[in-house]
Amino acid sequence: MDTTAPESKEHLPMLFGSEFAATIQVEVCQKRTSAARAEDVKMHVMNLLQRHPVIYRDYTWSKFDNEFLQKHVNSVAVVDTEMHLVDSKAVDLLNSQLQLHIFQLWEDGPATEELEQDNEALSAASHWLLPAAEFQGLWENLVYDNEIKSNLLQYITTTILFSDMNVDSNVISWNRVVLLHGPPGTGKTSLCKALAQKLSIRLSGRYKFGQLIEINSHSLFSKWFSESGKLVMKMFQKIQDLIDDKESLICVLIDEVESLTASRSSSLAGTEPSDAIRVVNTLLTQIDQIKRYPNVIILTTSNLTGKIDMAFVDRADIKQYIGPPSAAAIFKIYLSGLEELMKCHIIHPRQQLLNLRQLGRMNFVKSKVSDLSLQLRDIASKSQGLSGRTLRKIPFLAHALYVQESPVSLECFLECLSKTVDRQFCENDIFISPH
Ligand code: ADP
Repeated sequence: MDTTAPESKEHLPMLFGSEFAATIQVEVCQKRTSAARAEDVKMHVMNLLQRHPVIYRDYTWSKFDNEFLQKHVNSVAVVDTEMHLVDSKAVDLLNSQLQLHIFQLWEDGPATEELEQDNEALSAASHWLLPAAEFQGLWENLVYDNEIKSNLLQYITTTILFSDMNVDSNVISWNRVVLLHGPPGTGKTSLCKALAQKLSIRLSGRYKFGQLIEINSHSLFSKWFSESGKLVMKMFQKIQDLIDDKESLICVLIDEVESLTASRSSSLAGTEPSDAIRVVNTLLTQIDQIKRYPNVIILTTSNLTGKIDMAFVDRADIKQYIGPPSAAAIFKIYLSGLEELMKCHIIHPRQQLLNLRQLGRMNFVKSKVSDLSLQLRDIASKSQGLSGRTLRKIPFLAHALYVQESPVSLECFLECLSKTVDRQFCENDIFISPH
């Protein structure tokens, strides 16, 4: 997130003209306790934006000089779906169409959906109301190299457009199923949750609220394997009840979908019990049934693509590979970690780190200004191959393992970060190499 203060101009621009270069999304988080009318919030936010015709992408206001906004609004974010890695560019609000999304966060954690089996309660799914406080910021903090995030949003937009315009699904078919696949720890599950959250915010004018149901595939299988087909059916009946509420957007998340769709071909070859076939068949039938509803979307993840049933793979409209981050993405992940530690005064004094775009403008030449940022770039470069999950942990490990003083200087912390990366690769070697 760019923390540069936006440029303020005296002249008030026309924000809504007739010709626009681009649509800029503005997400307004209204306080849970606020009962202000959406029109009033909108008016005050527009006033705020009019005072800042040039703004940086991903700029967020969380402090306001306006009394109304102070009382009713948590944050106003000018967001970018493309998430350019190099850095946030300036956005010309004057020549942009603004789309305001006003929402309030649900603060409760997930509820557990239980199914009865042999007089025992089985926790079959977790159930969130969206947008949830728990998922706020998740989308922004997932860093990918290409346009994975904007493509996913674009996919949903098309899905909704086609439903709205009553496109005949016998002529053009789409299934409302997304499959994210790739190695563990690359953010697939988080991305599904973040996408559900984002959709509930972007579609807040259309649906009263969103719901995320994360199916617990393991519990559906563990104890009552022979009953799994029935359990899957019961679970989908519950989901059907939720879908019947047309004012709610339902996102169904099936993590590690291979455990439910273990390839039927291996079952047929006699290596898997026939129950597995029943489960896959049930799941496919249920998906075929709920895809008729415009307010549902099915998000699935898999670490073991080869194990997924082909009939399921065929149903997924989007099959997106998610791999480990590139050096540029790693740089951004580390940069956000270091900013956070400076904000919390664990690294002190605060020092300005340059992003890759700024370094590029200086031709990556070493100077007093660029030195620490270039060191960070080298550390990011040698961290390639580590998963996003590991990378997010590295600053914590660097402190736990190597930092001796508190607060610590940025120079010293970067050395610790570098040592931690080396250590991480040594550890990985031990676990990967055969004993
Ligand atoms: P997966 O489902 O692929 O195993 P998770 O969604 O469980 O991965 O990821 C775990 C955590 O790793 C995420 O919450 C996030 O903090 C971090 N992470 C993974 N990939 C990235 C990424 N590309 N950018 C930033 N953080 C990431």
